[in-house]
Amino acid sequence: MPTLTKSISGWGRYPAHTCELSRPERYADLKADQPSIIARGQGRSYGDASLNEHGHVLLTERINRMLELDIKQGIIKAEAGVTLAEILSVCVKHGWFLPVTPGTRFASLGGCVAADVHGKNHHHDGSFGKHVLGMEMLLADGRRIQCSASENSELFWATVGGMGLTGIIGTVTLKLIPIATSQIQVQHRAAGNLQALFELLNDPDLDDHYSVAWIDCMAKGHKLGRGVAMFGHHASVDEYRAALPLTHHVKSVRNLPFDFPGWLLNPLSINLFNQAYFWNEGRKTDAFLTSYESYFYPLDAIGQWNRMYGKRGFLQYQCVLPETQALSGMTRLLQAISASRNASFLAVLKRLGESSLGMLSFPMPGFTLALDLPLHDQQALFTLLDRLDQITLEHGGRVYLAKDAHLSAENFRLMYPRYADWLKIKQQFDPANVFNSSLARRLHIGEQP
Ligand SMILES: Cc1cc2nc3c(=O)[nH]c(=O)nc-3n(C[C@H](O)[C@H](O)[C@H](O)COP(=O)(O)OP(=O)(O)OC[C@H]3O[C@@H](n4cnc5c(N)ncnc54)[C@H](O)[C@@H]3O)c2cc1C
Repeated sequence: MPTLTKSISGWGRYPAHTCELSRPERYADLKADQPSIIARGQGRSYGDASLNEHGHVLLTERINRMLELDIKQGIIKAEAGVTLAEILSVCVKHGWFLPVTPGTRFASLGGCVAADVHGKNHHHDGSFGKHVLGMEMLLADGRRIQCSASENSELFWATVGGMGLTGIIGTVTLKLIPIATSQIQVQHRAAGNLQALFELLNDPDLDDHYSVAWIDCMAKGHKLGRGVAMFGHHASVDEYRAALPLTHHVKSVRNLPFDFPGWLLNPLSINLFNQAYFWNEGRKTDAFLTSYESYFYPLDAIGQWNRMYGKRGFLQYQCVLPETQALSGMTRLLQAISASRNASFLAVLKRLGESSLGMLSFPMPGFTLALDLPLHDQQALFTLLDRLDQITLEHGGRVYLAKDAHLSAENFRLMYPRYADWLKIKQQFDPANVFNSSLARRLHIGEQP
C-alpha cells in the first residue's frame, strides 16, 4: 500500500508529529502489518491520540460504507470511518437520532468508540459504547473478530475508551434513538456564580434529556463560575407544529480562511465576548426551538475554527470530578485559570452519570469541565496545566485522554485505576504492542504498572 511521510496534528494543532500515513481504499485492504500502528478517524481528538511519531498511522476515512440500516428497529451498521454527519444524513429523515453525540458531527464512528465519547445526555444515557450492539475488529495477529458486551466482552470493554490501542475497529453496529422532529426544544437559565450554576444543573424540575452549561471563566470574586445552563430535548410534534418536522437541514460550512494572529484572542477580547454571551444567552428563559445542528454542533458551522488560535494552536483541558468534590474542586480550578489570565471563551460544564464499563473510559458520576487554552507561552501554559492536574487529582478526578496533550504517565496511572485490568487484555490480544501512539508512549500506556 502506498505511504506518505508527513507532519500531522490533532484538532488542537499541538503537537505536530512526523508519521508515516496510509489510506486503505476498502475494508478488505485493512491490515495491521506494521511494527507500530494507530488508526486515525477524522483527527478530531485534540492532542496526540491519533498520532504515532515515526510510526504508522492508518487513515480510516475511506473505510466509510454504510452497511445496513434497519428503520423499524433503529439499528445502523457501518464501517468505522463513517462520520456522525453521514449517519445523521440518512437516519434523521427516518425518525432516528444518535444515542450519544459529542459536540462535533465530524467525528468518525471508530473515533467515538475508541474515546467512548459522551454527550449532553450522559447523566441519563451514559456514553457511546453503551449503545454499541457489536463491532468487528482487526487484531494484531491479523484475525478479524466480533465483539460486543456479550461476545468477547473483555476485548469489547478494553476497546471502548481504549484509544485505538487494542486493535483497529472495522465495523460498528449502533442502536439509535427515536425522534419525532429534527428540532430541539431549548431553555436557558443564567446563574451568577458557580454554586448557582451547580444548583441549576442539579435541579430535578429543570432537568431535561440534554443539559450543559457555558461558563465565563474570566469572571472572578463573587461572580466566579457564572454561566448559562442550557436544557433541551428532541421536540415533539406538538411542540413543533410547523411543516416538515423531519426535514434534515444541513447548513453550509464556512471555512476560516486563514490563521488568526495569536494576539487577537487576548484577555480583553475574550472578556468582552464572554460578557456579551452571558447577557445574550442568559435572557433566553422562554422555551424556544432550534435545529439539532445549532444545539449540538454550534462550532461545526465554522470549518477549521481551530485556526482561530493561530499557528501555535491550543490545548483543551477537560477533567471530571466526582459529585461530592465537584463544587470545591471546580472552584479551585476556575480560580487557578482566571488568576493565570490564560483566557478561554469556550468553557463548558456538564453533569455526568454512571461510569462506563470501558476500562479506560473517562466519565464518572460528577461534573466535567472543558476549556480551550491558547498556546501562546508553552512554559506558562504547562505550569498551569500541572496545577490543574494536581487539583483534579486532589479531588479524585481524571483528565480526558481524547483532549489531552500534556498529562504525565504517573498522573495517568493515578487517574485511571482500571489500567491494570485493561493491560491484561491488551497483552492478551497485542503482546508485541503493535497498536501504539504518541499518546500511549507519553503516558506509558501498554507498559507494566
Ligand atoms: C468541536 C469538538 C467537540 C467535541 N465534543 C466532544 C464531546 O462533547 N464529548 C466527547 O466525548 N468528545 C468530544 N470531542 C472529542 C471527539 O469526539 C473525540 O476525540 C473523537 O474520538 C474524535 O473522533 P475522530 O474520528 O476524529 O477520532 P481521531 O481523533 O482520529 O482519533 C481519536 C482516537 O480514536 C482512535 N480511533 C479512531 N478510529 C479508530 C478505529 N477505526 N479503530 C480504532 N481506533 C480508532 C484513534 O486511534 C485515537 O486514539 C469533541 C471534539 C471536537 C473537535
